[in-house]
Amino acid sequence: MTNYDVRIARANALASDHPASAPLLKFYCELARFQKPIFSELDARNETDLRALVCHFPALIQLVSRSGTQLLANFAAERLQGTEAQLDLLSAAWEGGEVVEPAGRFYARVLLQPFAEYLASRGDIQASGAGPTCPFCNARPVAGVLRGEGDGGKRWLLCSLCSTEWQYRRVLCPGCGEENKDKLPIYTAAEFPAARVDACDSCQTYLKSIDLTKDGHAIPMVDEIATVALNIWAEEHDYVKLETNLLGM
Ligand SMILES: [Zn+2]
Ligand SMILES: [Zn+2]
Repeated sequence: MTNYDVRIARANALASDHPASAPLLKFYCELARFQKPIFSELDARNETDLRALVCHFPALIQLVSRSGTQLLANFAAERLQGTEAQLDLLSAAWEGGEVVEPAGRFYARVLLQPFAEYLASRGDIQASGAGPTCPFCNARPVAGVLRGEGDGGKRWLLCSLCSTEWQYRRVLCPGCGEENKDKLPIYTAAEFPAARVDACDSCQTYLKSIDLTKDGHAIPMVDEIATVALNIWAEEHDYVKLETNLLGM
């Protein structure tokens, strides 16, 4: 089983446990099924050139027109006609790390994620002693991952782009460096025993952490999507997510 198969299986399992998140998880499954052969192809060809991704735009645009939002479909119709515009978007997202428009970020990330994951799988990553951004590709984390019980438990951050995990202190805000425990509230909800919101009252950002000691079957990238109800809660309390997930949430 590849990472993508594991994610797809987890998303299917969570969709039946959490009907409210099922539409999101189903869309995510479609995206992961689309990404899987891209990763395999890059891997098989030792391909490290961004331009190899451009040929996948038509199928992605079609997938979105079938299963995505009108907003995403409109963006493709207006802004992603022709390989030049498509490559420009990919390059901007890859080199600059930031594409301001959420719809543009969505398209870029669906394609860049398997590309970055493939490159990370080749690289020798120094995953310890890293800062608040990914030690491999410098993108921001999309979630925390908790392993090990109690005070000795450790936290990793999960890269939003290449899925590298790196260890990060448990009581330290990746948004602003706050380390005062009283300013770093944690919120949980009974509905999601293995997820929590790690918020920061200094910079008003939050990320969710997935606690693998509470659910050994959790796949952080997918469980992060399934627990979108926690995002709504956090945003109602004026916290802004440090980094959106693949679906832009
Ligand atoms: Zn990364
Ligand atoms: Zn902060």
